[in-house]
Amino acid sequence: MTSRVIPLIDSRLASPSRARGGYAETPAGGELADELGRPLRDLRISVTDRCNFRCTYCMPKEVFDSNYRFLRHSDLLTFEEIARLARAFVQQGVEKIRLTGGEPLLRKDLHKLIAMLSPMTTRSGRPVDIALTTNGSVLARKAQQLADAGLKRITVSLDGLDDVTFRRMNDVDFPVRDVLAGIDAATAAGLAPVKINMVVKRGVNEREIVAMARYFRGTGHIVRFIEYMDVGTSNGWRMDEVVPSSDVLRLIGEQFALEPIDANYTGEVAERWRYRDGQGEIGVISSVSRAFCRECTRARLSTEGKLYLCLFAHQGHDLRALLRPQDQDSPPTDSQLEAAIAGIWRGRDDRYSELRTQATAKMPKVEMSYIGG
Ligand code: SAM
Repeated sequence: MTSRVIPLIDSRLASPSRARGGYAETPAGGELADELGRPLRDLRISVTDRCNFRCTYCMPKEVFDSNYRFLRHSDLLTFEEIARLARAFVQQGVEKIRLTGGEPLLRKDLHKLIAMLSPMTTRSGRPVDIALTTNGSVLARKAQQLADAGLKRITVSLDGLDDVTFRRMNDVDFPVRDVLAGIDAATAAGLAPVKINMVVKRGVNEREIVAMARYFRGTGHIVRFIEYMDVGTSNGWRMDEVVPSSDVLRLIGEQFALEPIDANYTGEVAERWRYRDGQGEIGVISSVSRAFCRECTRARLSTEGKLYLCLFAHQGHDLRALLRPQDQDSPPTDSQLEAAIAGIWRGRDDRYSELRTQATAKMPKVEMSYIGG
């Protein structure tokens, strides 16, 4: 991992009202907004940078091989540290938290973290929405435990139903059948409707688009078709490998009549469409063909506690250094943590997807497996 880290104490945090430990206190009142006026609403937390899949578009085998240096266990935020930071983010406006990775279900005892997060309430007193994204490989075994710990929603990634295609894409010969068993287990545990993420890559799995739509139509589950993105630098992304969402909608629409429906909330990344015959809905996520930076209210916390302000960033802000100060006699107060988060968010002006070209794809960017998808 070659990302650079911005020291936490930077000019944005230096204000006339510097408090104990050199950090400003959170100003009272007023909504936190970044430089482009976007509030902080969502937090993605990567709980591990490891994965048991080697999806060719995300963690290609040639890069993530036995020589690849994953984080050491002592580098990872502990569950207590994650929960403490999560509370600070919620105080700054976060209403939704998604656990991801890497493969989050590889992190030992993840249900214990969910049990720590699920009682949290937003500033307006509603339960914080806790969700998880998984490749589904061990979900059949863990779904009930996750639901019992307070998980309410789950997203399962599945790039096709054709076993040969899927095994080739995950590149570890993992069968479709076991992911479907995970989706069934999640449904039985009360986590339905399940969202199912399918990344579409030209020449690889376009044929699976209609098959996936057909299979999940009428089940209540929601397939979301994701444009292949230039995250990280290891997947060798090319613009001509992106299948635009307009093509996805046309292909499905030729089989089943579709109509658009309103977003569930401002800033929802998937555009929603429903089958006219009432058999459910699908979503398309068009990060490449229709950037949604203007409505992006999402922060990302990496496995080792670095705060990233964009999926395509290459620099993180080291919150772990704040949590684990060298001088252990002066740990930060909660309001200092909140002030640090607020100061970083205020300086945010990222809008990579609006600026994307074939040339920007070569710029250094953090890998998705590290920052969390
Ligand atoms: N391991 C979990 C999983 O498979 O869902 C969580 C992490 S994964 C990085 C999160 C999501 O990002 C998955 O749905 C994956 O397909 C998607 N993803 C990874 N690389 C991508 C890319 N280059 N373009 C679009 N989506 C990508």
